[in-house]
Amino acid sequence: MKHVPYLDLRKINAEIQSELELAFSQVLASGWYILGEALKTFEAEFADYVGVKHCVGVGNGLEALHLILRAYEIGPGDEVIVPSNTYIATWLAVTYAGAQPIPVEPDPRTYNLDPTRIAAAITEQTRAILPVHLYGQPAEMDAIMAIAEQYNLVVVEDAAQAHGSRYRGRMCGALGHAAGFSFYPGKNLGALGDAGAVTTNDDHLAEAVRSLRNYGSKRKYENERKGFNSRLDEVLAALLSVKLPYLEDWNRRRQVIADVYTRAFSRIPELTVPYVPDSSTHVWHIYPLRCAHRDALQAYLAGEGVETLIHYPIPPHLSKAYADLNFTRGAFPLAEEISQTELSLPISPVLSLAEAERVTQAVTAFFGDGAGK
Ligand SMILES: *Cc1c(COP(=O)(O)O)cnc(C)c1O
Repeated sequence: MKHVPYLDLRKINAEIQSELELAFSQVLASGWYILGEALKTFEAEFADYVGVKHCVGVGNGLEALHLILRAYEIGPGDEVIVPSNTYIATWLAVTYAGAQPIPVEPDPRTYNLDPTRIAAAITEQTRAILPVHLYGQPAEMDAIMAIAEQYNLVVVEDAAQAHGSRYRGRMCGALGHAAGFSFYPGKNLGALGDAGAVTTNDDHLAEAVRSLRNYGSKRKYENERKGFNSRLDEVLAALLSVKLPYLEDWNRRRQVIADVYTRAFSRIPELTVPYVPDSSTHVWHIYPLRCAHRDALQAYLAGEGVETLIHYPIPPHLSKAYADLNFTRGAFPLAEEISQTELSLPISPVLSLAEAERVTQAVTAFFGDGAGK
């Protein structure tokens, strides 16, 4: 029986190995490894791809979000609305800035921030909304932008899982006032190490993030603010330039697999397949299946050689890291329910259709051949 891995990064990179090696050699030979031409090139290419004026490369996705909040001078005493259902990095960015994360529950169908619940969470201290395009599906941005306008708030997109994802035809990363991307190796566009970027049409913000990522200086030894060291290395920028032209094709391959899964599992009453509204182009960073018997299903699949993951087993408000906020179980029931029922199936540009079939057969077999029901 053949093992189906959740994600085989080696296989993805092997498809373009010679191009990656060439890019690496060029940076090696250049003798310039930080804030050079390779980064400038990638920043221009990624800004163009997303359809924004500016892209600023930074150390990782968490820093991208953190530096945006800093650049907007959001900090102690301020509140930022975040999804209750997200990876903890979204919350940590707010905490890094010194502000308070204020969780809001998701729409139970899309798993993304529910715009109808946002107004009730807004106070005199609220400065920003930080929607996440979770699993690769855009948040409900028109409604979120309308609320932000009404209350004069900044909207920062967490686009760490949404490279190439589109909302009403417009690219994630170009929908709010600024966006943070992650190029963590496992993301849809992944480097061979940690990397991230800020995208924005706001000249002032781009300028501020450029300074903040580099010790708070635009010119060497002239430090206008207390900045950070959070830069996207030349080697990684060059590798990302090699990978970017493949992203659309890679996302389409993920979409084919998602279609196979959704078609097979829609017929099984015990399963909830992802809901994709007409306004969304999902890029399937994660394929989130939901099942009341999630743990048993996961164990069964493991026995069948099918590797799965859970995104995420502990919602941020119940994690030890945020014990100081004193949230108890039941505080955000939708996020808790998702954390108890979500199961991520293998999905990637290099998962073959035969492997996807093996996954669907194994899942179907667990339900006693649900197709026959
Ligand atoms: C990956 C991720 C981040 C953080 O990105 P890093 O590059 O790992 O720091 C932030 N938010 C979400 C939703 C993510 O998935």
